[in-house]
Amino acid sequence: MSTMMKALQWDAKSEKLSMVEVPVPTVTNPFDVVVKVGFVGVCGSDLLVLRKIHPAAEKVILGHEFAGTVHAVGTMVTSLQVGDRVCVNPNGNCNGCRFCIHGQPHLCTTGKSAKNIRDLGIFWDGAMAEFCMVPADQVFRIPDDLSLQQAVLCEPYSCVLHGYDRISPLLPGTRILILGAGIIGMLFAALFQHRGFSDVTVSEPSEVRRKTVASIGKGCNGVSPAELKSLSTQNDADDFGFDVVVDTSGVPMAIQQAIPWLRPGGKLLIFGCCPADKQLSFNPHDAWMKEITILTSRINPFCFPKAISLVNNMAADYLSFQQLCVKVFPMEDYQDAIEMLKNGEITKALLQPSGL
Ligand SMILES: [Zn+2]
Ligand SMILES: [Zn+2]
Repeated sequence: MSTMMKALQWDAKSEKLSMVEVPVPTVTNPFDVVVKVGFVGVCGSDLLVLRKIHPAAEKVILGHEFAGTVHAVGTMVTSLQVGDRVCVNPNGNCNGCRFCIHGQPHLCTTGKSAKNIRDLGIFWDGAMAEFCMVPADQVFRIPDDLSLQQAVLCEPYSCVLHGYDRISPLLPGTRILILGAGIIGMLFAALFQHRGFSDVTVSEPSEVRRKTVASIGKGCNGVSPAELKSLSTQNDADDFGFDVVVDTSGVPMAIQQAIPWLRPGGKLLIFGCCPADKQLSFNPHDAWMKEITILTSRINPFCFPKAISLVNNMAADYLSFQQLCVKVFPMEDYQDAIEMLKNGEITKALLQPSGL
């Protein structure tokens, strides 16, 4: 076997993502495993890294949503064997700070760039490569009948599930607005349908993506932000309003516009990553009168095993790639993949580093 492999490496100095040849990782830490990457997703946060909005290491192989097969295991690893089909939780934490100790690893304050934290694909070499080295405790076996392609959705779904937990409980008949029909918006919409919520509106500027929203189920409909705005001015607030607004766009103005659309008792979930230097304003008197709740959701604490079960459960009826507008590319075609993603022609791109 070749000792070198192809990988997509981000270099902050040159502000470029490029295909490089690097050594295949070999297990040196006895608690590590090397995964042969089957498929790796290009995430919205990867695009933010390329724009220097999302923090990342100066030089790092990107890729944090992936599934593959175990290629090598460290001597102390007992939970996994070579050949196991797996997906990987990319989020490491320090296990020592106040938040980690109290069961909130996603709020770890040690800093993702610390040497003892494996933040895969952001601060530690990730999976846009033929092989990726990971700590065994971040690796999860997947069911036999779940494809490696669909298993890539376990990572984004683990984050969506945490968001869902944050806004729960939801009453039957809850009227929901999702801002943005990228993959996260689509996965939220599919989850709401799966859980029996049949009044889900998704606001999205891209026409292609709006059409894909309807394919999720008859309770889902895609509207343009302009349409939504005009509906809000034509209708009585109670007829028009929403019980839950989930922002997946990370656009502060979109969130600001939607806050007055919350019905009394409504909940806003800020899920998307907004630019760090942007503010938004809202009327605290109205918010108080309506007793609205503003929630945020970060990463995926303890959600990974639940996400695997969920994806396996939903795969056939809700998560076909055609339905979700997800496209698979050979890793060499990463530039095309990023372009299509940026243009809103697809909701997610999967890269295939090598044939399995
Ligand atoms: Zn991601
Ligand atoms: Zn910590």
